[in-house]
Amino acid sequence: MSDSLEKELRGEIVTVDKIKDYIHVPPEEEKKLVKIAERHPICVSKYYMSLIDPDDPNDPIKNMAIPSVDELNLEGSYDPSGENKNTILPGLQHKYPQTALIIATNRCVTYCRYCFRKRMVGLSNREVINRFETASEYIKEHPEITNVLITGGDPFVLPTKIIEKFLEILSPIEHLDYIRFGTRTPVTLPSRIIDDGELLEIIEKYNREYKRIYIVTHFNHPNEITEKSIRAITLIQKAGIIISNQTVLLKDVNDDPNIIAELMHKLVQIGVVPYYLFQCRPVKRVKKHFQVPLFKGYEIVEKAKAMLDGHAKRFKFVMSHMKGKIEVIGVSGDKIYFKFLQARNPKNLGKLFSRTIAKDAGWLSDSAE
Ligand code: SF4
Repeated sequence: MSDSLEKELRGEIVTVDKIKDYIHVPPEEEKKLVKIAERHPICVSKYYMSLIDPDDPNDPIKNMAIPSVDELNLEGSYDPSGENKNTILPGLQHKYPQTALIIATNRCVTYCRYCFRKRMVGLSNREVINRFETASEYIKEHPEITNVLITGGDPFVLPTKIIEKFLEILSPIEHLDYIRFGTRTPVTLPSRIIDDGELLEIIEKYNREYKRIYIVTHFNHPNEITEKSIRAITLIQKAGIIISNQTVLLKDVNDDPNIIAELMHKLVQIGVVPYYLFQCRPVKRVKKHFQVPLFKGYEIVEKAKAMLDGHAKRFKFVMSHMKGKIEVIGVSGDKIYFKFLQARNPKNLGKLFSRTIAKDAGWLSDSAE
């Protein structure tokens, strides 16, 4: 890995002062933003910053990456999906029988202001794996686990040798069918992929010789699909890896059927599978800023789907709820219909249910079903 790439991975634009070199920060907000950044750090790669139109006060990339005074609103919770309850040991979660989730790092190349792991990104190390071998022992003892999702933070900020070590440790576990990496680097720092031939060689080799590897990435807006991000995606695909995408529905970023339709269409165009569209979780300092009401979200999704062919509208509109992964499947009058795609309580798996909720509600209560 080159020195310049290592530098980029350590984080580039990390203060409000530095942000001012690129975009206008209203002077009356500056002190508040500095305070917010003391609580939830700033980190924006120069590449991602270059996607912001400095003349557009409502630029979607800006809204995702630059702190806002809306983060002063403390409605919500730091762990609305109950990740704490699923944690077996620091850095290892086991919520659904087939999947183990490993938090490989608390760092990312850009901290998204809407992150549902806001409680830890750039902050606490307590939820990060400290001995990968201990996690792999647990996985070995649980034959019902068929796949591992390595996530964070962003595991691709880690040195390539560490990523290789993860694959070396997990690959011999016979009952694992495949390994997933959740990374936003193709979106926020494509040079992580483009400039590190060794990483591509490693994932190509392990995918070909040992276990299937999948990459789950995270494009939220068509402006993120650039020449460089397409190059990164193409290189990963040339290594034989299938890439799918998870999007979060975000106010003032992509809460518009035309934007969602364009995004899903372009993803298919570059060979990325549109997988999930997530309802934004009611996270503290995020809910007020980014959450779209469920009724409005459903309408956006339906209007977007009406513009798309079958391939591009394969994505599901879901909530990662305390009780499981819940798909929003329909609306009738003041009722919304839901279905459990995954459930913490196996008796709920596949269950359909409906709720009468307020037009401006953005989430289901924890006693949802
Ligand atoms: S890249 Fe992912 S983990 Fe990191 S801040 Fe963004 S959403 Fe959170």
